[in-house]
Amino acid sequence: MSGWIAVAGLGPGGDALITPEVHTALAEATDVVGYSRYVDRVPKREGLCRHPSENRVEAERSRLALELAAMGRRVIVVSSGDPGVFAMASAMCEAIEAGPGSWRELDVHVLPGITAMLAASARVGAPLGHDFCAVNLSDNLKPWALIEKRLRLVVEGDFACALYNPRSKARPDGFAHVLELLRELCEPERLVIFARDVTTSDETIRTVLLSEANPEMADMRTVVILGSSRTRRIDRNGLPPLVYTPRSVTE
Ligand code: SAH
Repeated sequence: MSGWIAVAGLGPGGDALITPEVHTALAEATDVVGYSRYVDRVPKREGLCRHPSENRVEAERSRLALELAAMGRRVIVVSSGDPGVFAMASAMCEAIEAGPGSWRELDVHVLPGITAMLAASARVGAPLGHDFCAVNLSDNLKPWALIEKRLRLVVEGDFACALYNPRSKARPDGFAHVLELLRELCEPERLVIFARDVTTSDETIRTVLLSEANPEMADMRTVVILGSSRTRRIDRNGLPPLVYTPRSVTE
């Protein structure tokens, strides 16, 4: 039996947003590896060994997947959203680069998924309809000074920006600093979208002005979208507003 690894994105939560390609890999796999919350999203079936692990052990998880594949197992490594966006695909590449040469010969594929910012953006309209960036606000893997520098450049370049990992129990104050910085840099009317548990039954989405935003509006299950200076809101009677960024900029 020849083994393989598929690093797959399960999308933001809703089953309808898992791609057919990922469904096929899930059906063919012998092992599923991932953070326990994501492994829980994979239905149990005979012949599928489950290897859940805790958060933040991406390197060990990658090595386990590589060892299993080297033994001839068909391994699916699951991430939420897209595996290439702040998730397991980079961790897997790092493990291959640092590991034995034989790992470079393994059959490794990355299967894309719908990342949180795209699901959130679709829910409200098209806030990412013009140039945009994505910044991970966690300072676990990079210094806070770099996050601040990038946010300043986001605003200077007038990009819309998706902010992942805005706030966690381990980092209760970081997002308050982010809001303070954005208030210094942007006008108070700047639109900010808080999208939590997008595409699940617990979904909540709020669009507020930057002057109204507060840190409690975000947690680890929220992706925040900061509009550019041109992002607009269309209010509609009895319906949620549409938020979009025009496709063109005319000076
Ligand atoms: N690979 C994932 C991102 C992992 S980082 C992706 O492509 O979506 C984890 C962060 O993603 C969370 O802190 C949150 O900011 C965001 N996120 C993931 N799923 C989400 C969802 N359903 N709704 C809102 N934000 C989500």
